Amino acid sequence: MTNSSALISTIKKLETESLPLEVPAQQRATLLKEVDRYTDTFLNTLPQQKAYNKEGYERTEADDAFEINGDQIQLDDLIQLLQERVDNTGLNPASGGHLGYIPAGGIYTSALADYIAAVTNRYSGVFYASPGAVRIENVLIRWIGKLIGYSENFGGNITSGGSLANLISIAAARTAFKLKGVDIKSSVIYICQQAHHSILKALKLTGLDECIIRVIDLDPFYRMDLQILRKQIERDRAEGLRPFILFANAGSTDVGAVDPLEEMGTIAKEYQLWFHVDAAYGGFFLMTEEGRKKMKGINQADSVILDPHKGLFLPYGSGMVMVKNVQHLFEANNFDANYMQDSVGENFEYSPAQLSPELSRHFRGLRMWLPLKLHGPKPFAACLDEKILLARYFYEKVKKIGFQTGPEPDLSIVIFWYELTEGNANEYNKNIITKIQHDGRVFISSTLIKEKFLMRFAALSFRTHLKQVDLLLSLLEESVQK
Ligand SMILES: *Cc1c(COP(=O)(O)O)cnc(C)c1O
Repeated sequence: MTNSSALISTIKKLETESLPLEVPAQQRATLLKEVDRYTDTFLNTLPQQKAYNKEGYERTEADDAFEINGDQIQLDDLIQLLQERVDNTGLNPASGGHLGYIPAGGIYTSALADYIAAVTNRYSGVFYASPGAVRIENVLIRWIGKLIGYSENFGGNITSGGSLANLISIAAARTAFKLKGVDIKSSVIYICQQAHHSILKALKLTGLDECIIRVIDLDPFYRMDLQILRKQIERDRAEGLRPFILFANAGSTDVGAVDPLEEMGTIAKEYQLWFHVDAAYGGFFLMTEEGRKKMKGINQADSVILDPHKGLFLPYGSGMVMVKNVQHLFEANNFDANYMQDSVGENFEYSPAQLSPELSRHFRGLRMWLPLKLHGPKPFAACLDEKILLARYFYEKVKKIGFQTGPEPDLSIVIFWYELTEGNANEYNKNIITKIQHDGRVFISSTLIKEKFLMRFAALSFRTHLKQVDLLLSLLEESVQK
């Protein structure tokens, strides 16, 4: 008895100590106001903020404040730390001046949805735990399936990003082909040099990097050369090898090139390859007429990935994998566990846990669904059309001020460089980038293709408009006049 009362008093004591974790209503209002004040100031001052800030790379004493050391710090102090040592350093993906890599989004209504999802903390991993959350995610998957042009039996998963989506696709392909260890060395993967490195990473993670990997050359438009592809497949078959996966880009990260998907789909069917389309960058252009034209044939893909945190302007943390035959996704990922026995229900909807490696997870659907419902899909499509036209505008203008360019942009990326009659052109172009990054108002990145240093213009931020493009053009013009 005494033992039990000691136990109870210890429990009560711990309960009291843990009380701060349940924030009382009045304090919630104060905290929220402080957060709101900070995010509001952040958004209101965005036009004056740099797109790139060289600060923050050197560790300073101020960074010591990041350490978890038992101290309790006030929210306003923490916000100040974030403002100075996080939000004021490196790249600013929220800025419309971000025209490098693949620009990011961060629409406000998505952040609000994240807030709701975090507070209510629905368990979106299995249907049994939250039929509503899973239903919302499945609605989104069906919507994307329609966008791709899948007819039925397709399935998908909302992932944390494109890299995970590529990984899940590749695992599904392996399952579909019933590939065993002994088959790996004679299975052939066809990919082009412009494939995103996350695919190679996924091959490594799945052990499929031991397949024979054929890197197919590009045509002058930086798309996979299909004549070379066909010949290579024929040769491999003649040698008794087993063609396995064909990778295509629907908007390569480097130059934005869309591979000839229609023809590649035909080839994949003819030679019984798994056809994967990496549309992480380009996928949401399917919401536009121009995009649908460019990506005609994408519906033939066995798997497609898209990144809502790119083309749908969501904050980081949203990718999607779509598989034409959901069975492959299910077989690759589904596991039964005894403690999940209650989760088998009658109103069957696929659960994210059955179609992906994850179990407990963020209710990711809400951050995508709420903005689409609140704004309707129209402004998203308009914003994407605007980006296509901004790229065309930039493409014409940059030529006029003396730069060389790659092919006309398929979507919203333009590669360009300054040609020199004598001297080191790569150094010269690198200098231009350095100057622009130093200025910081806009940010562009570069790439290297066949040893040539190329600058990239990439429009995908919903905050990028004519104003930022004109600013970049004027900086470029200045840089070559000097
Ligand atoms: C961004 C990108 C990826 C990787 O996606 P993450 O969301 O960064 O993991 C894969 N493929 C292409 C073409 C991309 O642009």
